[in-house]
Amino acid sequence: KLSKRLQGIADYVSPGSKIADIGSDHAMLPVYLLQIDKCPAAIAGELNAGPYEAAKKQGADAGLSNRLTVRQGDGLQVLQPGEADTVTIAGMGGSLMSEILEAGHAAGKLEGVKELVLQPNVGEEIVREWLLEHGWYLEAESILEEDGKIYEIMHAVRISEADIRNANLYEGEFLPAVLPNETKIKLLKKMGPHLLRNPKPVLYKKWRHELNKLERICDQLAGSDLAESAHKQALFRAEIKAVEEVLQCLP
Ligand code: SAM
Repeated sequence: KLSKRLQGIADYVSPGSKIADIGSDHAMLPVYLLQIDKCPAAIAGELNAGPYEAAKKQGADAGLSNRLTVRQGDGLQVLQPGEADTVTIAGMGGSLMSEILEAGHAAGKLEGVKELVLQPNVGEEIVREWLLEHGWYLEAESILEEDGKIYEIMHAVRISEADIRNANLYEGEFLPAVLPNETKIKLLKKMGPHLLRNPKPVLYKKWRHELNKLERICDQLAGSDLAESAHKQALFRAEIKAVEEVLQCLP
């Protein structure tokens, strides 16, 4: 049985699509998708030798070696254009994920890819920023808690009117009208436009936790006499205030 996190990712994969799971580790996700016949074929990409071997073994043990191709390499470099309909990347930081997407995009590896399912562990706003800048529409997002950790999962599709729909997505009509547009967009990227439109208890939990972390950082900065500490503290205080305002005005 798949973890709740991986199940959430699997649920976003369109039936019948060929997937490439990048940074696949034990290839749990592609093996599951092949086993339930949601995907006809899958590629598992791994940078590191240990996980690469583990992925190959997992595929062989499941009797899926003919449908699961395991390749060792950096990010999307393991893919040929047109090989995959869906790319999944999960369980790494948002900045590494965006670097992988950017390098793949530059090398044409995303040509023909119709959807992305992404689960950054941290730095979600960097991923939303990348999607927005590259004409991917963030169609859905979810947030869940498992074993005391909170995860966000994003589903993005490539559509011709992406820019128009993205503009609506980042309008934040429910945010305080006094906030400048730029601030609204920043907060929506940070906290998730879909997650904010349909706020779940776990979203509040995540941000209470994040605000506590920021408060602690501010307290530490208050005790420091480095020149830049006061400036940093002011920035964090402003961030705390903005996030609190958003949480108060959610639909
Ligand atoms: N995707 C799986 C999941 O969500 O359960 C595994 C996540 S694991 C924490 C991250 C994996 O990404 C590791 O196995 C690591 O070797 C791999 N990785 C890190 N950087 C990578 C890169 N540039 N290209 C491919 N794989 C990478």
